[in-house]
Amino acid sequence: MSMFADIPVDVGVIYEGERIRWQDAYTELGGPRVEHKFELVKVRGMDEVEDGKITIIGPDIKDLEKKSYPFGIFIEVAGKDLEEDIEGVIERRIHEYVNYIEGVMHLNQRYDIWIRISKKSFEKGLDSFVYIGKVLQRLFKSELPIIEKIQITFITDPEKVKEKFKEAMEVYERRDARARGLKDEEVDAFYGCTLCQSFAPTHVCIITPQRYSNCGAISWFDGRAAARVDPKGPIFRVEKGEHLDPLRGEYEGVNQIVKMKSGGEIQRVWLYSAFGYPHTSCGCFEAVAFYIPEVDGFGIVHRGFTENTPIGLSFSTIADSTAGGRQIDGFHGISIEYMRSSKFLQADGGWERVTWVPSVVLERVKDFIPKDLVGKIATEKDARTVEELKQFLVARGHPIVKRWEAKAAEEAAKSMAVAEEAKQASPTAAIPSAIVTPAPAADLTVPVGVGAGSFRFILKNAKIRAKRVRIIRVKEK
Ligand code: SF4
Repeated sequence: MSMFADIPVDVGVIYEGERIRWQDAYTELGGPRVEHKFELVKVRGMDEVEDGKITIIGPDIKDLEKKSYPFGIFIEVAGKDLEEDIEGVIERRIHEYVNYIEGVMHLNQRYDIWIRISKKSFEKGLDSFVYIGKVLQRLFKSELPIIEKIQITFITDPEKVKEKFKEAMEVYERRDARARGLKDEEVDAFYGCTLCQSFAPTHVCIITPQRYSNCGAISWFDGRAAARVDPKGPIFRVEKGEHLDPLRGEYEGVNQIVKMKSGGEIQRVWLYSAFGYPHTSCGCFEAVAFYIPEVDGFGIVHRGFTENTPIGLSFSTIADSTAGGRQIDGFHGISIEYMRSSKFLQADGGWERVTWVPSVVLERVKDFIPKDLVGKIATEKDARTVEELKQFLVARGHPIVKRWEAKAAEEAAKSMAVAEEAKQASPTAAIPSAIVTPAPAADLTVPVGVGAGSFRFILKNAKIRAKRVRIIRVKEK
């Protein structure tokens, strides 16, 4: 039986996390196959909103087929205590409340939404957006009493979606720009969010002015507004506590709250690093920064990128290895806005460590990349394999190449030291040009010299990589 008598399907938290596979879907709204999709909330004056109104522009659910449609959800709210600040937070709740509806799956946020309606729920009678609108209106008003009036418009007409999509993108940009310029050190508290725990139970977002939420939908200002209007809700204030590591971004208060909210699973968080104790990754991050060992740098791939990255994996495969509320060394869920922050992967080298980014993303963040790096970071137009990437980085003089040279020099110096030691130990022979890299390999015995004065050089559990080996006979005096 339904929670609401006039809604043909059930509604409740138990349906959150429900996945609808394509073969079980009646139709799909938004998603990776369509360019224009969005959800947007605007705060209006009390006399600008007609409470309970639901408008559908374009075909309704019953008139749709099994394919992907451009789609928009536009929600207008009013209330005497409502301020613009809260728009982003109300908007993020759409994800949660739509997922409460049996047989409706909502993924992602803002310009990236992806909704499926199951065949089963359609057959039960869920054949109009009016039902979805009614559920949203009731849940919003009961969960956030600050909302006094709410009207919702669903758009499936492709031209109208496209038109409103542009407006939505401008609103998102204005919201994001607001937090820019504010520094983590300047605020007295951060904010946390556990909205994604229904999909990733140990995930806790820590939202700071310079580390935007993973989904890219909640800024520090949004977090502050949400914690004020609904202090017991999923978005809460985080006392910073002692600043334990300014480079990596480790705060005592963050560690404490993450430990508590993750049920003890996550003990420490480094806010500005993808290694060691990185911020956890839920599943609705906008992009993933992934470490490429061959270039000792990062690639970044966003949700909308449908081709393979230079490591031969697609976004969805990389996302699967990253998501779930875990801390995976070198695989890091991030938002686009975080890429615009001066603290972006600060502990790992920041933008100087980034080697490959899809061109669409690069275009969106290029004004925030150090000027001398522009043109040196590869996109899918420059490199499709790791080999092509290496060649591009060398040709363009990416700073990572200096890192390789420094590393090689360091290794060579180490080898020379080993060789020098060997020379000291041997009055009759030397192997000065070998580059020795200890690695788990077989033991190796190298006979050196001949006759009575000869000896054997035994390298235990080692592998030798050598560009050139010179064996020099030392003449008897
Ligand atoms: S990604 Fe983070 S901030 Fe965004 S909804 Fe999920 S937990 Fe909240």
